[in-house]
This record gives sequence, C-alpha cells and structure tokens, in this order.
Amino acid sequence: MRFEHETLAQRVCFAPSEASAVVWAEVERLGASRVMVIASASEADLAKSVTSDVPVVLHHDEVVMHVPVASAERARAAATAHDVDLVISVGGGSTTGLAKAVALTSGLPVVAVPTTYAGSEATSVWGLTEGARKTTGVDAGVLPRSVVYDATLTLSLPVGLSVASGLNALAHCVDSLWAPRTDPIDQALAGEGVRALAAGLPAVVADPAGLEGRERMLYGAYLSATAFSSAGSGLHHKICHVLGGRYDLPHAQTHAVVLPYVLAFNAQAAPQVERRLAEAFGTASALEGLQRLRRTVDAPVALRDYGFAEADIDDAVPVILEAAPPSNPREVTADGVRRLLRAAREGADPAA
Ligand code: NAD
Repeated sequence: MRFEHETLAQRVCFAPSEASAVVWAEVERLGASRVMVIASASEADLAKSVTSDVPVVLHHDEVVMHVPVASAERARAAATAHDVDLVISVGGGSTTGLAKAVALTSGLPVVAVPTTYAGSEATSVWGLTEGARKTTGVDAGVLPRSVVYDATLTLSLPVGLSVASGLNALAHCVDSLWAPRTDPIDQALAGEGVRALAAGLPAVVADPAGLEGRERMLYGAYLSATAFSSAGSGLHHKICHVLGGRYDLPHAQTHAVVLPYVLAFNAQAAPQVERRLAEAFGTASALEGLQRLRRTVDAPVALRDYGFAEADIDDAVPVILEAAPPSNPREVTADGVRRLLRAAREGADPAA
C-alpha cells in the first residue's frame, strides 16, 4: 500500500438545534468583528436565526446557481466596501460557492452553515461561470475554516430537492472511487458515505419532518465531499460540470439523473469499485443497489425534464471528451458519451 493523502484543515461541528450558539463560538474563536452573511432571500430567515448573536455588518442575498463571475465581483466589492473580516454562508452549494468566490480573491475566512447535501463546504474546490462555461479550481484558501451542521436547518428543504441533493452527495462517493487521485482513505470515506446516504435518504422521504434521516444525510454529505475533495473529479463530475455550465441545468438534479449511466458505463471495468458499492448498498451489484434506492425515493429520471435538448447531445460530446479524465477505468469515446447522454436524456434503462 503506497499512497499520499492530504487531509484538509477544517473544524467540523455537528450541532443539531444549536447552530446559532456554535456559529457565535466560531466567530469568537476566529476573532471576527465585521461579518458578512451570505444567504439567498429564501434562506434569509434561517440565516437571521443562525447569526442573531454575531456582529453582522452586511447581509448579501444575491445568490445565483453556478456563481456567475459578475455576481462574484459584486459580492467581493460589497465585502471590501464594508471592511468585512469574516464571511458566513447559510444555504446550499450556490451560497457556499459565492462565499468561496469572495475568499478566493480576498483571503477572508469563511464559516459555512450548509442547508443542503451538496457538500461544497468540505472541499477546497471553487467554481465560477462565465459565458456558459464553468471553470473550477482548487485553492486551500477557499476551504471554509469551520462548518456547522445543524439538521434542523434542512427540515424546510422540500422532499424532491432533498432527494436530488442527496443523490448529488452519493455521486461524490461513487465518483471518488475511480477519480484520478483516489486512495484507500477516500475509498473508506466513500463507502461509509454510501451507507449513510442509502439509509438516510429513504428515512427523509418517509419522514421529512424527522431529524434522524436528515442527520444521517448531513453526515453522509460531509463524508462524500471529503472523499471527493481528495480524490478529484472523475468522469461523472466532468460530465455534470459540462451539462450544468453549458446548458444551465440544475446541479443536483443533473447529478441525480446522470449517476446510474456513468456507473453502468464504468462498473465492469472497475470490479473493485463495483464490489465496494454493492457491499455498501447490500445488493448483488452496485447498479442494482443504486437503482433500488432511486426507485424508493422517486429520483429524477431524465435530463430532458430539465431542458437538455436532443440537439445538445452532439454539442456536448467533444467538450466532455476533452474534460474526461485519462485515468477513467474505461476508455471514453465519442460514441460512448453520445450513447450515455442519449440514454440519460430519455431516462432509458441504464443497464441496457
Ligand atoms: P442550491 O444551493 O442552488 O440550492 C437549491 C435550492 O434549494 C435553492 O433554491 C435554495 O434556495 C434552496 N434551499 C437551500 N436550502 C434550503 C432549505 N434548507 N430549505 C428550503 N430551500 C432550500 O443547490 P445545491 O445543489 O445545494 O448546490 C449547487 C451548487 O453547488 C452548484 O453551483 C454546484 O456547482 C456547487 N457545488 C460545489 C461543490 C464544490 O465542491 N465546490 C460541491 C457541490 C456543489
């Protein structure tokens, strides 16, 4: 066993019903006195409840999915104008992403309070979109210093969004098993992540107002993001980044739809991954486990439901080929990508 694994420096606090007190303690610990709170208008009340004891000088609510460069620039300018010394993000991956964009150019510390299962809070990956092209990069400075997970903040996340977001987290686990820098620690984190998410998601669907499923989902989301951050983007993430940035498809739903097709594409060429996933799902094969879970939670099935047109397929193929990791367990060809996209657009049986 020979590998190098980098562990990211971050405080992670799981604090059901106690986000407000824990966020205050984190702000004190970081010695901040001029705080910028980033939260979209729909999460404004959640953000106010979480930051009620914090010295806030600026509430910023211009949050846009995939972080357009222009909106990042406005947030950066507002932070400078208000002489901010710490950023708190309260929201999903789009909100965390905007806080990271501010940190990227300012070096300001971020305390992230996630309200979805996207997992951006536990990675040092930033993403910006300009001219229908999504650019991502890795920078240790954008990693939130502290993350505060409070499952009560996710109770308002509608079941459909919870499912899509949970499958986005599951995609982090699956993709990190064959991603370019995958190592045994990532694989252990991903395996436990799959177990937590596969148990948590049906519990959320069965009892959306219950905390147990929501807590498992946050735990699984954190593990999945930690594995993903270390292992890097595999084929699944490269495909979804192209689709999200180029055709403005919703992030979590795109991941939820595409995952079984990439798993079906790669599984036979990656028998160890197949075994690990099947074991985590408790099924005879990985795809069977994923599909059983997807049926149980009524997962999104077809990219055409989110605006991906037939004509987009041929447009996307060369861009995906260029982005596909050379280390993918199976060779990625134009024909293979075209067939994968067509099947995902139509919601065809991935096993076929
Ligand atoms: P999102 O942040 O856009 O949120 C989706 C919707 O859910 C929004 O309308 C939001 O207002 C709503 N919402 C969020 N929390 C809620 C709550 N508790 N109750 C009710 N509604 C709530 O979507 P997302 O899927 O969380 O994040 C997607 C973005 O995150 C994408 O831009 C993606 O690229 C990025 N991302 C980045 C990383 C990374 O490592 N950098 C990882 C994962 C995702």
